[in-house]
Amino acid sequence: MSVKVGVIGGGQLARMMIPPAINLGIDIRVLAEAEGSPAALAATAVGDYHSVDEVLAFAREVDVVTFDHEHVPQEVLKAMVAEGIAVHPGPHALLFAQDKLQMRQRLEQLGLPMPAWAKVTTVADVASFLDAHNGVGVLKTPRGGYDGKGVKIVRAAADAADWLAAGELLIEELVDFSRELAQSVARNPSGDVALWPVVESIQRDSVCAEVTAPAPGVSAELADEAAAIARTIAEGLDVTGVLAVELFETTDGRIVINELAMRPHNTGHWSIDGCQTSQFEQHLRAVLDLPLGATDSREPWSVMVNILGGPVGQELHERIGAATLASPGTKIHDYSKQSRPGRKVGHVTASGSTLDDVRANARAAAAQFD
Ligand code: ADP
Repeated sequence: MSVKVGVIGGGQLARMMIPPAINLGIDIRVLAEAEGSPAALAATAVGDYHSVDEVLAFAREVDVVTFDHEHVPQEVLKAMVAEGIAVHPGPHALLFAQDKLQMRQRLEQLGLPMPAWAKVTTVADVASFLDAHNGVGVLKTPRGGYDGKGVKIVRAAADAADWLAAGELLIEELVDFSRELAQSVARNPSGDVALWPVVESIQRDSVCAEVTAPAPGVSAELADEAAAIARTIAEGLDVTGVLAVELFETTDGRIVINELAMRPHNTGHWSIDGCQTSQFEQHLRAVLDLPLGATDSREPWSVMVNILGGPVGQELHERIGAATLASPGTKIHDYSKQSRPGRKVGHVTASGSTLDDVRANARAAAAQFD
């Protein structure tokens, strides 16, 4: 009998867990929000992840529950734990990926480097933060933000009034950063930890566009610091599974933590083709408390470029031939999602020994989907 992993959420992250699950003889079950999800290749139930009853009915049929996203409410997570169901990462860890205020408070206790920040509940709170930080701040809703939604730059306290009406907010200094980095780590319940190299991610319109692994020109000290930060968070928060730590590299050469994702992350997709053990295989290993695989890179450089959707009705698979002709060694990943402008519908990864060539190959393949 195969071991059964239940994944809540049927997006591309759940989908990309399927190939390593096949290899490892793991039976993947998915709780998707609707029919025809990207992960529908796996045995899929359709249900509402907000519903304690629907999630429990799904979870009782599997050996361990994990996630494609971080939005499952705490009461649902805790109901599973109360029934003795193995949930990885657990609610006590996931909380810090669900709520940016809780995350800032906890990481401060761990003594980790972060932008200056404050919890604000009134316009006066915002005004005093702006006064102390050159008149500018980055306002964030603690919960529910993604791809830049729930983040805005404010230069006048009154501009925070509409969001404050909905409840307390996080405000941060506007970090003067030269680039964004990400450090992924996997940890299993036995406490084993495996780290991938720190990567550079380029965002366009607050959406990840391109990832280079390893981050070009990163010093050994900085790479060690990024790794140490991720390890400290994984251990300090008792994270099980994959954790991605998004970082800013400041113009004066420091790194500070932006935010956390407790699941495989877009900045780790390159590992499918570029590493001995991908983030998706490692996530399965970690949540099952199996020994973790080696994370060495297969080639000195990998570049991943996201494919964003174009007009509705434009099918990605029709362009795969052209992309292959443009760059035969580049690996193409189609999430089988309906195209919509700006939607992440796939990615490509090129690997090799010369960064310029690798980047050109990845971009040439991705350009066929523009
Ligand atoms: P999301 O939850 O939408 O991913 P983030 O907190 O990552 O939100 O913010 C989205 C983007 O906004 C970041 O990728 C970065 O470019 C910018 N940003 C966020 N926080 C700051 C900050 N404190 N200083 C400067 N830029 C920021």
